[in-house]
Amino acid sequence: MNPLVQRMRPFGTTIFAEMSALATRTGAVNLGQGFPDTDGPAEMLTAAAEALRCGHNQYPPGPGLPVLRTAVAGHQRRFWGLDYDPDREVLITAGATEAITAAILALCEPGDEVICFEPYYDSYAAAIALAGAVRRPVTLRPDGDGRYAFDPATLRAAFGPRTRMVLVNSPHNPTGKVFTPTELTTIAALCNEHDVWAISDEVYEHLVFTDADAPHIPLATLPGMRDRTLRVSSAGKTFSCTGWKIGWASGPPSLVAATTQVKQFLTFVNGGPLQPAVAVALDLPDSYYTALRDGLQAQRDQLVAGLSAAGFRVLVPEGTYFTTADISALGGTDGIEFCRSLPQRCGVVAVPTQVFYDDSEAGRLLVRFAFCKRPEVIAEATRRLSALRRRR
Ligand code: PMP
Ligand code: GLN
Repeated sequence: MNPLVQRMRPFGTTIFAEMSALATRTGAVNLGQGFPDTDGPAEMLTAAAEALRCGHNQYPPGPGLPVLRTAVAGHQRRFWGLDYDPDREVLITAGATEAITAAILALCEPGDEVICFEPYYDSYAAAIALAGAVRRPVTLRPDGDGRYAFDPATLRAAFGPRTRMVLVNSPHNPTGKVFTPTELTTIAALCNEHDVWAISDEVYEHLVFTDADAPHIPLATLPGMRDRTLRVSSAGKTFSCTGWKIGWASGPPSLVAATTQVKQFLTFVNGGPLQPAVAVALDLPDSYYTALRDGLQAQRDQLVAGLSAAGFRVLVPEGTYFTTADISALGGTDGIEFCRSLPQRCGVVAVPTQVFYDDSEAGRLLVRFAFCKRPEVIAEATRRLSALRRRR
């Protein structure tokens, strides 16, 4: 008999674990799971090593080390002009994942509805299900120019008496979409009108490319949103340390206190010696952040060119680690099958985005490739992928 609770049964193993295991088993180049293959800033690594050696190895305080909460608040003031009190409005978490899960568990009664945009990051659906809440996905569809967008009328129609919150992720995984000022204004207006909370997942806040239509705009900076948004980010993407799992949530004291209430019983705390190191990283000069973005933008360009040459129709991303591509020109009819056979066909792993939709038709022909990899790795992957075109 399966001991797993009913509400978790639909979830299986995450696609990231499945595809990374496939890459390991087959020796394929892994452009599936989004993790960089280079280390983060040396200053941060040195600070972590020092903290390990100098006795920072016990539980940090529940809300996180003061030095990190202060750095998180300072960073948001510096880049986004957002003011948070490090003592009452910032919480350190086990990655962005825990911040989002704890907030959903803290805010949703069974039957409450959470509006999110699909394709959605996989942990959102699981957290909503664990809370006994109901997800109301609004689909992002590529327009004629290959830009993902939502229909404002569909978003409006998703709001109802049980809507508890909207979950927004910009820059967006898996599409690489950066929500436009108009789209964010629409979302904010509906949150205000219906008096609902927002969780804004901004883990890719520093990865908006120079040719994007607009810069990154935190949802909390829009009118009426500062006091109804829990803004979430983490060190993983900004400082190339996805294995550290140091994240944070910032928002009005009531939202942070509610999230803390749940978080304390999930992990209590994590990453004691890593917290002061992330504080060092957050204070790095602007040149660090610019170089990170420029490097990833060059890798994006390299991968987009390689995928296009291999015959994919690429939906060029404006930010993040990822690009999506349509497989139909290569004869693909189902992204899951395509990704499962790709290692055998040409030695590359990608992720089918179909698994991030409730409307699986909408994502059936789309697959995601990660470009947070060294240029030589991307070059090898695209060389292998070019075999797809030749074999057609
Ligand atoms: N949200 C999004 C959109 C992500 O892509 C990821 C993966 N980094 C996370 C949340 C989880 O972040 P973390 O590893 O800090 O938990
Ligand atoms: N965020 C990463 C991605 O989208 C993976 C995170 C994970 O493996 N859970 O690829």
